[in-house]
Amino acid sequence: MDHVLVLNASFEPILVVNWQKAMQLLFQGKVEVVEEYDKEVRTVSMRFRLPSVLRLLKYIPLTRRKNIIRFSRANVLLRDQFTCQYCGRKRARTELTLDHVVPSVQGGKKSWDNIVTACIQCNQRKGGRTPAEANMRLIAKPGRPEWLPTFTIRYTLKSTPERWKVYLSWQMSTHPQNNS
Ligand SMILES: [Zn+2]
Repeated sequence: MDHVLVLNASFEPILVVNWQKAMQLLFQGKVEVVEEYDKEVRTVSMRFRLPSVLRLLKYIPLTRRKNIIRFSRANVLLRDQFTCQYCGRKRARTELTLDHVVPSVQGGKKSWDNIVTACIQCNQRKGGRTPAEANMRLIAKPGRPEWLPTFTIRYTLKSTPERWKVYLSWQMSTHPQNNS
């Protein structure tokens, strides 16, 4: 309910934000409302319906899109598709942890290229060591994602809001292009 789908100016779905971020984008004049939820929000001075789908007024080319995906636990899990990056097993959100590839005590940063999804067992096994020291191997090299695929958006939310479906099907029938 409090999730808002953000479309590119081309109507291609590119990310999901919480409603606070959605309101911020609206007040900054960066987006237009395409769909609203039925629920009304009241503040002291006004009352409005929560946006459900927003569209960016300015097109964001693929090369710049990566800058809008904020580093967060949720987005790291989405990037890694809820899969432990050491043993390759898919787990529930609550059974996953974030692992510093290079441990923070060794100068490893909390960044897209040093944080991966790990199951509790692998995280414990690795401890405060690098993968090489722990004799463990990453299944993929971590990095900043360019976009979060729609299927992971679906996977994460308990149910896809009805008003999103037409926009999400847009992406299922086309593939992101690398022409920008
Ligand atoms: Zn694991």
